[in-house]
Amino acid sequence: AKADGSRARIEVHDGVLSDSEVDQLQLETDLRHALDSDELRLFYQPIVALADETLLGYEALIRWQHPTRGLLPPAAFMAAAEDNRLTSKLGAWVLRRACVDAATWPAGLRVHVNISARHLAEPGFAELVTDALAESGLPPERLELEITESTALFAAEATLQAVSEVTDAGVTLALDDFGTGYSAITALHRLPIHTVKIDRTFVADVVTEPSTAALVQGLVQLGLGMGLQVIAEGIEDLDQADWLREHGCEMAQGYAFGRPAPLPGPAPTTEDVELAGTMPPGTVTVED
Ligand code: C2E
Ligand code: MG
Ligand code: MG
Ligand code: MG
Repeated sequence: AKADGSRARIEVHDGVLSDSEVDQLQLETDLRHALDSDELRLFYQPIVALADETLLGYEALIRWQHPTRGLLPPAAFMAAAEDNRLTSKLGAWVLRRACVDAATWPAGLRVHVNISARHLAEPGFAELVTDALAESGLPPERLELEITESTALFAAEATLQAVSEVTDAGVTLALDDFGTGYSAITALHRLPIHTVKIDRTFVADVVTEPSTAALVQGLVQLGLGMGLQVIAEGIEDLDQADWLREHGCEMAQGYAFGRPAPLPGPAPTTEDVELAGTMPPGTVTVED
């Protein structure tokens, strides 16, 4: 039988599951069901050029349109996808859907897809990416995979192999939440990173806290010095946008430019999303 990490992690104790274990199992079961019954959605948030707010692309962000609990953000359910098989099923769904969606956008626009560390290290990951591109017709240059520093920290040989296969194919890599982990420098050194995304916890204080400002300035300079694209995440107001532009950051994402929003599709989204700024191409605006 194939080694299955999920089995190995089930520990034998008194045989009685705690409340949190029961919740975890229930959530996992529900999430499997959500995949099969088409309850998952991708929302898209614009990424813009700071100079003139030109639209450059979108980041795909997963949501769960839960039948009773409403629209759930990833924080409410992604941790439940602890089982390897579920992680890769979810990851494959996201990747395929994002490529299919992006293939319908104007040719200049790129799509960013978040990849979990565990999925990246799975056998067959690179093939999944190239299949998703081939099936959708999306040119590889229009796909950017976002990984976090922890992914790089645990960079196993399998991860490095998958990374070089996808980057050889023309897909680019972004280092997400840049500055929040302990291994950013190692990640930049070891992986063919194309873009760094400065975490929004820093951006939030950049105008008001001199020490955060110095830190962000350092992160921007580090990225630019290495010839990378630098995206500031979580820009909520124009003071933050001005500051970042003045300090050399060329790209941004945040509520100031547009919130994550659904593309129109056959499945109605019941939750009302506040649409601000640029909306994804083809977004249906309901006139009242
Ligand atoms: P992330 O990749 O760093 O995504 C940015 C998060 O910041 C998103 O939260 C986005 O909605 C939020 N955000 C963007 N602009 C602003 C702003 O101006 N202000 C504030 N307060 N927040 C802003 P979201 O969608 O809840 O996603 C949270 C995290 O979940 C993501 O962080 C990413 O790590 C993970 N995630 C999302 N979708 C996927 C997915 O499809 N696969 C995987 N593996 N992880 C995902
Ligand atoms: Mg991201
Ligand atoms: Mg981030
Ligand atoms: Mg984040």
